[in-house]
Amino acid sequence: MGRVIVKEERCKGCGYCIDVCKNESLNLNPDRRNSNGYNVAVFDEDRECSGCAMCADVCPDAALVVYR
Ligand code: SF4
Ligand code: SF4
Repeated sequence: MGRVIVKEERCKGCGYCIDVCKNESLNLNPDRRNSNGYNVAVFDEDRECSGCAMCADVCPDAALVVYR
């Protein structure tokens, strides 16, 4: 099992992490923006996370930290 922390101020809302996650454990929060005005990725604590770190690998802004 894994868990993902989003560094919200780094996120640009590109959605790459969301597309790559097979467990659909990440989504964009339409109601939450960082100080740059981007909707940020959110980790859904209620969904499975394998800790594969594909999301962190694909993020161009190093906004995700995966804990296993
Ligand atoms: S570590 Fe893997 S399973 Fe967990 S949120 Fe990231 S891509 Fe999805
Ligand atoms: S890939 Fe990185 S920058 Fe893009 S939405 Fe996910 S966390 Fe944000």
